[in-house]
Amino acid sequence: MKPNIKDLSYNDFEAYLLERKQPAYRARQVWQWLYQKRAISFAEMTNVSGAFREQLAADFSISRLAVERRADSADGTVKFLFRLADDRSIESVLIPETNRLTLCISTQVGCAFGCAFCATALLGLKRNLRAGEIIDQILEASRFLTEDRRISNVVLMGMGEPLANYAQTLKALRVMTDNCWGIGISPRRITLSTVGLVPQIRKLMDETNVSLAISLHAATDELRSQLMPVNRKYSLRQLMDCCRALPIPRRKRITFEYVLLRGVNDSAADAHSLAELLRGVRCKINLIPFNPHQGTHYQRPETEHVEGFQQILSSYGLQVNVRRPRGDDIAAACGQLQGETIKETEGAAGHC
Ligand code: SAH
Repeated sequence: MKPNIKDLSYNDFEAYLLERKQPAYRARQVWQWLYQKRAISFAEMTNVSGAFREQLAADFSISRLAVERRADSADGTVKFLFRLADDRSIESVLIPETNRLTLCISTQVGCAFGCAFCATALLGLKRNLRAGEIIDQILEASRFLTEDRRISNVVLMGMGEPLANYAQTLKALRVMTDNCWGIGISPRRITLSTVGLVPQIRKLMDETNVSLAISLHAATDELRSQLMPVNRKYSLRQLMDCCRALPIPRRKRITFEYVLLRGVNDSAADAHSLAELLRGVRCKINLIPFNPHQGTHYQRPETEHVEGFQQILSSYGLQVNVRRPRGDDIAAACGQLQGETIKETEGAAGHC
């Protein structure tokens, strides 16, 4: 198998060009073909000499993701089940909103973190995605858009834990954000969500300007450790100390995600403890009413209950949004992404 050119960083490719005695500007040309014009063959790269195009084709492949299934929700959300070269599957979700078009992408096949309420957790970790596979989700989803539309926002909130696949995720972020040879999405419009891996959070905030979201889901160590085993490694104290010390620019805030589970973490007392915990952190809170899926006993609280929880937080002066479930009729909402299992069960039923 030839190496996939999209797994090379810009610097790697410049080094390759130097070895082949090619001018350095070729790197920009080829990268623009790959990420701006979404070329699928070297033959398309008409501003590169024919001989060198052949050389590239001999040395590299250009990856694609196969669309294994596409599901359209009544609310406009589209879920893609992409098949990778090794036949594993991942999911990406396109979410149209009034002024933006957001793509939610995966960074791993499955996940190792075992959050009690999450569908992806049931798969366990199968493997990390490579940078090319992370980027290809954006390139392939873009092919379904008409000329006048482009993906404006990216959230790393699909399957997997992005900070547990740090190097490949960072490489992919460079391609997403570069506006000379990359996809050119502003880092402000990219949000990375994490279970709270403290050392990697610090590193990410040093190395990029992307927006940070942290899955909190509980305001005490006892409850958080039950819901999110990672809390036994990085306690709430460590996590909050880290957040308070982050070099977040003045206009920016950390987003804390809090999935509301009926009778588990949704009482008035929970809301007050959450507000106390976040005292002094420049942040906003995203409440996510639990999205049900097979294989869990958790339930979503009533809408009025969610509003009551929100009001308590607001009374502390906190900025709180309630995330509207998008695409829940096609199991594309937060925590419902479970590519492999969907494939297996459908295969068994003969629908593939
Ligand atoms: N591993 C990262 C990225 C996944 S983001 C993280 O945990 O942050 C997905 C978000 O949806 C996380 O906040 C996750 O906790 C939340 N989530 C998971 N399962 C859910 C469910 N069934 N209903 C609502 N939100 C869920």
